[in-house]
Amino acid sequence: MSNLAKLLNKIYSAETPDLKDLEQVLFLTQRGQLDELFSFADKVRKEFCGDGVLLRGIIEFSNFCSQECFYCGLNKSNHKLKRYRMSKNELIEAVNYLAFCNIKTLVLQSGQEDNLDALWLKDIILEIKSKFNIAITLSVGEKSLDEYRIWKQAGADRYLLKIETFDKKLYESIHQGMSFEKRIKCLDDLRSLGYQVGSGIIIGLPGQTLKTIAGDIAFFKKMDFDMIGIGPFIPHENTKFSKGKPGDVDLTLKTIALTRLVAKNPHIPATTALGSMDKDYRVDGLKCGANVLMPNFTPQPYRKFYEIYPGKRCVDEPVGNCNFCMDGMAKNIGRFIDYSIGDSLKFRDGSRDKGKLSPLVGTVLL
Ligand code: SF4
Repeated sequence: MSNLAKLLNKIYSAETPDLKDLEQVLFLTQRGQLDELFSFADKVRKEFCGDGVLLRGIIEFSNFCSQECFYCGLNKSNHKLKRYRMSKNELIEAVNYLAFCNIKTLVLQSGQEDNLDALWLKDIILEIKSKFNIAITLSVGEKSLDEYRIWKQAGADRYLLKIETFDKKLYESIHQGMSFEKRIKCLDDLRSLGYQVGSGIIIGLPGQTLKTIAGDIAFFKKMDFDMIGIGPFIPHENTKFSKGKPGDVDLTLKTIALTRLVAKNPHIPATTALGSMDKDYRVDGLKCGANVLMPNFTPQPYRKFYEIYPGKRCVDEPVGNCNFCMDGMAKNIGRFIDYSIGDSLKFRDGSRDKGKLSPLVGTVLL
């Protein structure tokens, strides 16, 4: 067994990963070594999640935002962005088409809008749940426990709240006026209400180091998230980080792979950001630990206005085309699109399953 194989097995088997071990792997640059890491992560993905690629259809229903995140084009100071909020009828029509395309998970996403009417969203959740057999994931930012409860009771199943970094100092330096403790409390509140909870990070944020990323990966394990999104930073001209360098693709892929090794069975998307770099790297993401793709069902003309970062993939694509494209991506690497509802893999027999180690570790995985 090579030294790298021993190190990867150690990380895979550890109850709490050693940060120095994670940093050592994040530091790798040799192609052969990266391939060894990606291949290990791919085997862990196969063991815990199978070969199916789940689809999460996203509808970005509003781009209003009251926050000032330094990396995001929706920040409230970006007055060049045309703002929109879809009407209830437009939204239900878009969901109708998503369900027609056989998508079983809807992600309803918006900026973090202080004025979002919780009862308006509740009515939409109720109507969707009464008409369609789909899971609803909400992604509308930090809200009160009461608002989270209203939506959960209306039928929302899952919630995405990306933290972008678990380094408190870095978090608060790039999220003006926001508190790290509040973010963690929101994640705890969501879990306490019974949501399947997702979070995630951005790779390449100005001020981030390999040590920061190693800490993030360890935190993923500690928080036991149901879903984890990891995408590269892409600078947007109307943000405080307009002059930042784009995130490194290999570093993003290494982070996905290590997250799979450490956290075992969360759903991990090959993010749209990964598909929006100099070329589309989503297949690379699927080959190093990811098991989810996120087709965009935001109707035209709104789609181009949800500009978190520039050059977002498929902005001009007709709604619904993504299915064919993603089907091809999966087949090309010997996988298939899994059209099931794709609930968290962390619930088995009514209790949380943190992902049991393969008894064959060390023999089959390497
Ligand atoms: S990351 Fe979210 S909260 Fe921050 S500016 Fe963008 S949309 Fe608003």
